[in-house]
Amino acid sequence: MAFRRAGRGAHALRPVSPFQTLTRIPSMQITGDMLIGAQAVRGTEATLQAINPATGQAIGPDFHGGGEAEVERACALAEAAFDTYRNTTPEQRAAFLEAIAAGIEALGDTLIERAHLESALPIARLQGERGRTAGQLRLFATVLREGRWQQATFEPALPERNPPRPDLRMQRIAIGPVAVFGASNFPLAFSVAGGDTAAALAAGCPVVVKAHPAHLGTSELVGRAIQQAVRDAGLPEGVFSLLVGAGNAIGTALVSHPAIQAVGFTGSRAGGMALMRAANARPQPIPVYAEMSSINPVFLLPAALDARGAEIGRQLVDSLVLGVGQFCTNPGLVIGIEGPALDKFRAAALGALQGKPAATMLTPGIHAAYEQGVAQLSSLAGLRRIGHGADPVGANQARPEIFETSAAQFLADHRMQAEVFGPSTVLVVCRDMEEMLTVARQLEGQLTATMQLDDADHAAAQRLLPVLERKAGRVLCNGYPTGVEVAYAMVHGGPFPATSDVRSTSVGATAIDRFLRPVCYQNLPQALLPAALRK
Ligand code: NAP
Repeated sequence: MAFRRAGRGAHALRPVSPFQTLTRIPSMQITGDMLIGAQAVRGTEATLQAINPATGQAIGPDFHGGGEAEVERACALAEAAFDTYRNTTPEQRAAFLEAIAAGIEALGDTLIERAHLESALPIARLQGERGRTAGQLRLFATVLREGRWQQATFEPALPERNPPRPDLRMQRIAIGPVAVFGASNFPLAFSVAGGDTAAALAAGCPVVVKAHPAHLGTSELVGRAIQQAVRDAGLPEGVFSLLVGAGNAIGTALVSHPAIQAVGFTGSRAGGMALMRAANARPQPIPVYAEMSSINPVFLLPAALDARGAEIGRQLVDSLVLGVGQFCTNPGLVIGIEGPALDKFRAAALGALQGKPAATMLTPGIHAAYEQGVAQLSSLAGLRRIGHGADPVGANQARPEIFETSAAQFLADHRMQAEVFGPSTVLVVCRDMEEMLTVARQLEGQLTATMQLDDADHAAAQRLLPVLERKAGRVLCNGYPTGVEVAYAMVHGGPFPATSDVRSTSVGATAIDRFLRPVCYQNLPQALLPAALRK
């Protein structure tokens, strides 16, 4: 039985009519309800609207936000589901993840069209993102079947040893119900059924998602596909819930709920830090895996710059404007050494930038933040705008921008390192390799660091690499940081402020690690040992 508030702002609860359950709603229909366990629940707190950023117009229907009562209901169901769900076999969970992938694909054009309306992201990009989302779910199915994720470890008893060693066996188990905050910039691959949800479900953790307000309809469609997969698999209904709410209150209540044992988040530094504070303020603090801000430095080493500076300049601009710069791996900082080769790079980059159109950003809020960030950079002494793309012609459009400064001025003003989410980058001009190393050492933590290098740059790269290893989760050569492969060896993480926990990744097979914890079983009789530890 689901519950809802008796009236707006009232706190009395009354049962929801059974006719509100999903089974009576056509699968493609967006109703504006939350999905709590098996139910579609109409919130009675503030109403939210999805906005088309290309027009500024609202897109129906209204979404009915929930509050503490709905958080309580979703978390209680998640807690009730946890022991049953974590004890499903890896094969059962693998099949469940595959069913979610198939369910998302079965949403067809309805999903893509809604995501396009809500995000202004191109159709082709969204189709690719859907493929990536399904691929991630299927990757975790493979991970589960391979079995290494569990790290079953055996150390037999050594009774003859002095002192004797007990029989020790270890495996990793699910951490508990997980709260997931989807990202605005990947409405499919980092959202309701995105990487954090896939990893948590694979680990055996029920998931409560807080829908991102930028793509509410997309969230509901995907949420319904997951809800259907839960039902079809015969799993406890609390394995998945989707909450909607206006403002920060519902997210804070979710992170504060005692049933929640970990948090996955992608978004702003301020939002991630606020959720970390909420998690730490609980009687039982819990881990928050927040991916926040990164400017992804690209280092232009001398021989590469000399050989192909113009080509690098053009390619860098393509990477800068990809997706209107709305990637966490967007190259927001470029570092080179002064001279004719850098001049060629600069001229080619500025030439390429001139032809780049302004394009619509994900939300009016993100557009306003971009404008503010660009204005802030423009106001800094020692930093000057050296070029820009075409002016905006429509609502919420961002104009690409390139700024330039000297290494000395960059080192003197920490504000030049602030992430400006969108197609803006800063070129830092160094006198020599020593100054480039000094800039690298002063950088904050990053998701990525890139070196453009040729063979003759290896000696310089060998000096730079140890610095970059300490700064970034992924070090690239001769590529551009946008584009993150979903793979076993991928790390999409990094030192603060790129993320709140440097030890993990939000993309790739090892993302499951963040939702597992090790348990040691000492001298347990065979009959009591978990299946993976019997032999
Ligand atoms: P956001 O404002 O941090 O919001 C992300 C999610 O967290 C939303 O669901 C939001 O819901 C919730 N939230 C934010 N602050 C909260 C708080 N204090 N307490 C509880 N919940 C909170 O991020 P965004 O809307 O996606 O984008 C805004 C900015 O984030 C961008 O301009 C960019 O700078 C950055 N961003 C970074 C990345 C990255 O990968 N590094 C990706 C996307 C965005 P409510 O708003 O409903 O509370």
